[in-house]
Amino acid sequence: MLGTLRDAGYELESQPEQADVVVVNTCGFIESAKQESIDAIIEAARLKSASRCKAVIVTGCLSQRYAGELADEIPEVDAFIGVGKNSELPQVVAKALAGERIVDSCRSNEVWTANGKRVRSTPPWTAYLKIADGCDNRCSYCAIPEIRGPFRSRPPELILAEAERMADEGVLEVNLVGQDLTRYGEDLGGGWNLEQLLRQLTRIDGLFWIRLLYCYPTRITDGLIELVATDPKICKYMDIPLQHGDDKILTAMNRRGNRAEYLRTITRLRELCPDIALRTSFILGFPGEGRDEFENLLSFVREIEFDRIGAFTYSQEEGTPAANLPDQVDHAVAVRRYNRLMELASEISLKRNKMMLGREIDVLVESPDSGRCHRDAPEIDGIVKLTGKVNPGEIIKAKVIEAGEYDLTASVTCRVMCDG
Ligand code: SF4
Repeated sequence: MLGTLRDAGYELESQPEQADVVVVNTCGFIESAKQESIDAIIEAARLKSASRCKAVIVTGCLSQRYAGELADEIPEVDAFIGVGKNSELPQVVAKALAGERIVDSCRSNEVWTANGKRVRSTPPWTAYLKIADGCDNRCSYCAIPEIRGPFRSRPPELILAEAERMADEGVLEVNLVGQDLTRYGEDLGGGWNLEQLLRQLTRIDGLFWIRLLYCYPTRITDGLIELVATDPKICKYMDIPLQHGDDKILTAMNRRGNRAEYLRTITRLRELCPDIALRTSFILGFPGEGRDEFENLLSFVREIEFDRIGAFTYSQEEGTPAANLPDQVDHAVAVRRYNRLMELASEISLKRNKMMLGREIDVLVESPDSGRCHRDAPEIDGIVKLTGKVNPGEIIKAKVIEAGEYDLTASVTCRVMCDG
């Protein structure tokens, strides 16, 4: 969106109070995200009377899902557009500035192909790289397939060209994203899959880490595990959202696989790649989750000892099969379970972090006194606090001298790679 606007001649301004047009990109897959998005829209709408702002455009998943209702509720907003309209944003802005109101949430199932236009909003040494969009998994609680459409892979040549450009521009860490990374290539033919894409990406000079987020557990193949274990450019890190550890709940969630299969995959990952940091996420309070099912989840977490755990309380999303299931769980109960799970997660995280004591690790420096190691995805995991002189954008080696629940402290031993 930023790239198409810049190419159309608009100047980008990061302070909403200083902008003539404010674009709000929303999230809308669970209740808390919707609320946060609505607060941001209302705040932007307020700017029309409190600043120089002449038009407010709302895009993203919330707008895709509820354009009509939002347009009725918030008349100050000039345009509500869906996720398929991002490439038309310059025209939408022009029309809004000319006084036209646009409400258009028609979803395009095209793959985003614009290339060479991107304006990144992350620090110069790290970037997200989208390899696919949409999802065909149809987990019973999830509105995302409705919002984003069916799964489609981005053409490999576009992904590789974008990654090469990033490397040329000094990006050291590429974080692969998509609703379902491990399905990559299924719709492309020609033998493309995630492994093959990774092999091509690892050939790009300049990239230091390629990090995998959002891997569906039953599509983590032995070949992928071996590649992650052996290729030095692929970060020893994997995010595998599992959602639950009780088989009855997993079936009700329409998730593939079961506890025993997940355990086998993770055991194999740790056997071949003992250094790997595993992140997962769980939903608490899914319909039918009683005390036994919750205890099963806790025992699963104790057994696997994930390095990082994210958790959400269940959000009853309209239009999803789970919204109509019997035995919906009281929100207060879900919150109590969330707190218990997160207490356990902190204990395990501390234990796993302590295993790093005395080890020498590579750290991507992000501030004058901290950075991240292979165990830390940007914005979501911990940091490594550093003692010693460092510069943001360089990669250094450091010895871990302290381990907390989330963060490590390490003292710099030497420099590996400097930016520029
Ligand atoms: S895999 Fe993820 S995006 Fe796809 S339906 Fe399940 S929870 Fe939603």
